[in-house]
Amino acid sequence: MPNRHRRPDPTEALQRLGVPREVAELCELPGVGPKIAADLYRRHRIATLEGLAEAVTRSPRTFQSYGHNTVDRWQRDLPVLLERRHSWPIALAAPQADAICAELANLPGVTAVSVTGSVRRLAAMNRCIELVVACADRSALDAWCQKAGAVTRMPADYPSAIATIRCTTGRGADELPVLIHVALPEAFAAALLQSTGDPTHVEVVTKLLAEAALTWSEVGLMHRETESIPIASEAELYARIGLPWLPPELREGESMLQSPSFLIQQTDIRGDLHMHSTWSDGSLTIAELAETAERMGYEYIAVTDHSQSLTIAHGLTPDDLRRQRSEIEQVRRRAKVRILHGSEVDILADGRLDFPDEVLADLDIVIASIHTVFTQSRDTMTRRILRALANPYVHILAHMHGRLIGKRSGYAVDTEQVLASAARHGVMIELNANPNRLDIWDEWIRKAVKLGIAIPIDTDAHEPGEMNNITYGVRMGIRGWLPKAQVPNTLSYAELKQRLDARRMQASVKR
Ligand SMILES: [Zn+2]
Ligand SMILES: [Zn+2]
Repeated sequence: MPNRHRRPDPTEALQRLGVPREVAELCELPGVGPKIAADLYRRHRIATLEGLAEAVTRSPRTFQSYGHNTVDRWQRDLPVLLERRHSWPIALAAPQADAICAELANLPGVTAVSVTGSVRRLAAMNRCIELVVACADRSALDAWCQKAGAVTRMPADYPSAIATIRCTTGRGADELPVLIHVALPEAFAAALLQSTGDPTHVEVVTKLLAEAALTWSEVGLMHRETESIPIASEAELYARIGLPWLPPELREGESMLQSPSFLIQQTDIRGDLHMHSTWSDGSLTIAELAETAERMGYEYIAVTDHSQSLTIAHGLTPDDLRRQRSEIEQVRRRAKVRILHGSEVDILADGRLDFPDEVLADLDIVIASIHTVFTQSRDTMTRRILRALANPYVHILAHMHGRLIGKRSGYAVDTEQVLASAARHGVMIELNANPNRLDIWDEWIRKAVKLGIAIPIDTDAHEPGEMNNITYGVRMGIRGWLPKAQVPNTLSYAELKQRLDARRMQASVKR
């Protein structure tokens, strides 16, 4: 993906057009620039996203002059932007939660700290950061909290039996509420379990505890309301109600019915099949990508730079690919990891691929994806993707919805049809591990798993450090009940290569 999400500040342009600067927030909407924003203000007196959402819902026809697909797109994108006003994307919340955790862990008197709540479950959007802190002596923690500021803009619907502290972290639009559950050291594991699950999960656990005459208490658990039961770990608590330890990502809704033993784990991952080098819009050389992978203990990587039509991301021409191939061959001589030469080939507006088949045939691995013309209707977009999937040289369809969490909903597409077609053609569907994307996500992963689709978890790394995002991908895989057996980058290099080449054989038979 081209890594350029920031848009120029529209206020100056709006001033030149003679409309108030408040109208600038309309330009947060994908596809709306100063001109359309000014027009919406002049013709419809709309100055805010709320106003636009309300008007578009009330009377979508009024806005047909902006294009039928545009209105459709606004209807999908507006809720995303409005939700962002009181919720924070995981890509923002998770690192901030980790940073506070590290800070609190160093305070005197604090014996244990953990991220909990929705961030620990890897929810895409989060109302706040939640932490559990075990404290023998609260004075240092209280001083820290005072410094962090008092209660501000905290959602009121977070009931908790544990003592809680509310403050905020970050700045400007990145400022988000923090809820700290303070527990006695002996109650840490129970408090962590109780605050991690969603209401359904906690309710089920509470019921199962009751069947064993156990109740939650400020010292952990109580038996028959008289005898306190020390609980050293979440695993121990789950064992008391006859359950295995459940990964936090499964502690929502019916997910606890899922047996965690088959699910993908971080340690299963043996390589990363989607990343960009300095040949297109990445900032690491091929040698540096290989070294990073080696440090991560990987067996292989695929270098998959953008294709020629994506000029904004310095897409490669067939000639560039040939020169890149010789650089890869050089790096292969000294690298410890195996390097697959691939490409992230653009799916053009009509569904053709950005390279002819003879160019694709020379690559070890072909990823197809959409980066342009997001404005097509759902039908056109679906046909476009189906046409690409029918190309026998395509191994993987990447970030298939084009969403950016908290920023845009992505393009309109019939996901069910695309998954069915991928299953039929034997095309893999990527789980893009970039925390801004996490695409495909839990509900679609479950459907793809049922259809027997192979789902590689790849980082799409452009910058140093981004290959570490694999953790987010694995965690999203767990949310989607993704078994290891359906993740092709858990295979050995030989097995993976065989799988990729088998598709090539099919392609040459078909052509
Ligand atoms: Zn990419
Ligand atoms: Zn991409």
